[in-house]
Amino acid sequence: ETTAFQLNPRTADFVKSKTIKKLFIGGQFVEAASGKTFPTYNPANGEILAYVSEGDQEDINRAVAAARDAFEDGPWTRMQPQERARLIYTLADLIERDADVFAEIETLDNGKPIREAKHADVPLTIEHFRYYAGWATKISGDVIPVNVPNMHNYVRREPIGVVGQIIPWNFPLMMAAWKLGAALATGCTVVLKPAEQTPLSALYLAKLIQEAGFPPGVVNIIPGFGETAGKALATHPDVDKVAFTGSTEVGKLIMGYAADNLKRVSLELGGKSPNIVFPDADFTRAVPGAMQAIFFNQGQVCSAGSRLYIHKSVYDNALSDMVSYADKKVRQGHGLDPKTTMGPLVTGEQLNRVTSYIEKGIEQGAKVATGGSRADGDLANGYFVRPTVFYDVQDDMAIAQEEIFGPVVAAMPFDDIDDVIKRANLSTYGLAAGVWTQSMNTAFNVAHKLKAGSVWINCYNMFDAASPFGGYKQSGIGREMGEYALENYTQIKSIWLNYN
Ligand code: NAD
Repeated sequence: ETTAFQLNPRTADFVKSKTIKKLFIGGQFVEAASGKTFPTYNPANGEILAYVSEGDQEDINRAVAAARDAFEDGPWTRMQPQERARLIYTLADLIERDADVFAEIETLDNGKPIREAKHADVPLTIEHFRYYAGWATKISGDVIPVNVPNMHNYVRREPIGVVGQIIPWNFPLMMAAWKLGAALATGCTVVLKPAEQTPLSALYLAKLIQEAGFPPGVVNIIPGFGETAGKALATHPDVDKVAFTGSTEVGKLIMGYAADNLKRVSLELGGKSPNIVFPDADFTRAVPGAMQAIFFNQGQVCSAGSRLYIHKSVYDNALSDMVSYADKKVRQGHGLDPKTTMGPLVTGEQLNRVTSYIEKGIEQGAKVATGGSRADGDLANGYFVRPTVFYDVQDDMAIAQEEIFGPVVAAMPFDDIDDVIKRANLSTYGLAAGVWTQSMNTAFNVAHKLKAGSVWINCYNMFDAASPFGGYKQSGIGREMGEYALENYTQIKSIWLNYN
């Protein structure tokens, strides 16, 4: 039970109070126009954490209107970049002040281990806002040497306007930060829709946005479901740009919705990332590295290393080390227990999705080295799946092609470097990849040939606000983070002045 763990009083007050968590529109917390609410659950035990106002078309209309007013007429657009930067820095400081609260909310709502929420989600969020606060004062244009006498031509980089942002449930706070940071630095205004499974940290963030003193309407947060609130936002004619993170399936819908008023679109979608272990790898790192690549966040990571290619000469030994890592090092339990390294999956639906992929893998002839089922005993009340390693998987099996989004890895042997590069690239996805080797030649050659937006050499799942992240192929369009993300939220104006 959650009550077995001591919560920060602020968390207890926010999560346990049965008051309804409201929408954040125009700087105020308001009920949904319909008056409807929906519950959000703790996936470790199924208990209701809070009721949340359920946004829909009318609420999206109100929020977009507030964002439009803030963009066209509000103090936000008249502010000096220095003032915008100061507000974003203030927000980062407030998140840091309430870091423990955010970590607990994230663990309760999503299920993730508190040690990960504390050491990854929250600090990366704070750093992300600070990084983009820095950019607010560094977005400059250009002067162009045009081939016309007495003519001055210069280029301005202007904010794109009102932005709709739709995010998933796997890193609820961090995904909000990835979306908000660049949009605020560039001077846009935002309507953000968190995932229906995990709305709480975004609503706590809304309190801090209010406290930091952002002008009303600059950020609006509307929890709700995909086909109602999400679709209303992505189809809204007064939204200039939509930024989406989630499944490839819904990403394609978003592009279709955007066609009506030709909204700009950026997409961060799914993956089936290859992780390649060469025979000369340092196995004391490659083995735990390959396991963390798939087990981090219960495997609910778009860049998870879910296709594991191991050179045939080391395949048997590496596999047995990996199995013993999964069996002995992974500690499943309630996320609030500081000893837990793997929590439950986010929902019962996600549990069914993952276990049905496991069954399909077995049906299609893959062999289970460890795991292969829902966890039982003390863990039977939550949505726990045992960490699962499949071996003797064929490239064309469902578990090697489709995104499972759970702690399930498909191990496959390979012969040589050309063979493995070809097989690694045989995917509709292209989000990320891993390479484990001590040879510089192998590392660079393979890294350059893989069709993936990120390649990690002798490491995995490394993220930094300054380094771009995004997908090749059906893993997405555009890049988040770094200077690259500024492109998503700005447009270019060319100005000509005749001084003859
Ligand atoms: P999903 O695509 O169903 O949901 C993501 C978000 O989209 C949610 O907020 C949801 O409410 C909304 N949504 C759903 N249908 C919609 C619609 N018709 N119109 C507008 N919005 C809609 O994804 P999911 O299955 O809940 O989440 C897991 C998926 O997200 C995985 O496939 C994973 O790969 C992907 N993901 C990708 C990244 C990345 O950065 N590339 C990060 C996290 C998750």
